[in-house]
Amino acid sequence: MKPIMTHPFEHLAPGPYRFVGLLESDEVSLALNKNGLDGIEEGGCIGSCDHCYSAITIGVMFKGSDGKKFKVGETCAKKAFEPGVPVLSEMKKACNARRLNLKKEKEATKFNACIQWLNDRTDLNDLPHPKGFNGLSLGDYFQWYREQAGRAKFIEICKEQGFK
Ligand SMILES: [Zn+2]
Repeated sequence: MKPIMTHPFEHLAPGPYRFVGLLESDEVSLALNKNGLDGIEEGGCIGSCDHCYSAITIGVMFKGSDGKKFKVGETCAKKAFEPGVPVLSEMKKACNARRLNLKKEKEATKFNACIQWLNDRTDLNDLPHPKGFNGLSLGDYFQWYREQAGRAKFIEICKEQGFK
């Protein structure tokens, strides 16, 4: 006799499962709480995966057929569903968008720190341009990248010049 296949999330709620959304920051979980979602610990901490108890950075919320909601990490969520099922592509799409957002936020923070770092430097106009351009200073070098390059490139340039 073939063993009956049970879904990995069966212990959390009975299937089939619906993708509810992502949980990530205090703000998100507070909003979810306001909408009457349960299964989120008080204080809105993203906490751990309900399935494997690992700490998670992106919480994927599902709802069982009984209406009970739970959150799991991205890895567990991806492993739990057959390739190609809609619930999987929905959550993947949301996770990718979230990851891109997190990256952008991180970059923005770093960019602002770079600007602060430059503002605190008073020697920029006295130092030579790193590429040796005649009559131009290190300050001009930074200014050019700030105006012409993307944030990632600008951060890279600042790092090259000693930003930590
Ligand atoms: Zn997990």
